[in-house]
Amino acid sequence: MNAENPEVLISEEEIQARVLALAEQISADYGGEELVMVGVLKGSFIFLADLSRRLSIPRTIEFIAVSSYDNGSVASGAVRLVMDVRGNIEGKHVLIVEDIVDTGHTLKYLIRLMKSHRPASVKTAALVRKAESAEVDVTIDYLGFDIGDEWVVGYGLDYAEQNRTLPYIGFVEPTDS
Ligand code: 5GP
Repeated sequence: MNAENPEVLISEEEIQARVLALAEQISADYGGEELVMVGVLKGSFIFLADLSRRLSIPRTIEFIAVSSYDNGSVASGAVRLVMDVRGNIEGKHVLIVEDIVDTGHTLKYLIRLMKSHRPASVKTAALVRKAESAEVDVTIDYLGFDIGDEWVVGYGLDYAEQNRTLPYIGFVEPTDS
């Protein structure tokens, strides 16, 4: 396995088709209501960019940053808040846009955090889910793809900050586990 040329797991075409389908579903579900999309940095930035541009409802963008892993793929345990939303989301419809749901701890933490801002509603979108790795029960309202437990990169996702801008989702074999 070569980190400079990860093997394709989900192609660019598959991703684009799925993102469009999710955007159409979200637009229909919110029925013209304004949405605050909260992207989880850094991994969701490309998914958020594509998803937000395909919506046909009013939307604004916020970012949040958490840290749950060290600079590789070994879980460090607790979720740490690095940056909260800047805008006031009280009374608004919030959609958390996450890259990957692995154990589910991060998303569970984020839902709780968003709810503490007293929004009108909180829903979740995730590009991929590692279904076999789930440790906590957390609802993903809009899911891109289910994958196995390989380490994936591309389309915003990194391995030690590399490979984020690949147009597809590929997989690499971590060297630190
Ligand atoms: P969880 O709290 O669900 O275990 O972890 C979620 C976070 O772990 C994701 O937001 C992501 O940052 C990171 N993560 C888990 N698996 C992968 C992976 O295969 N590739 C990348 N790039 N990040 C991952």
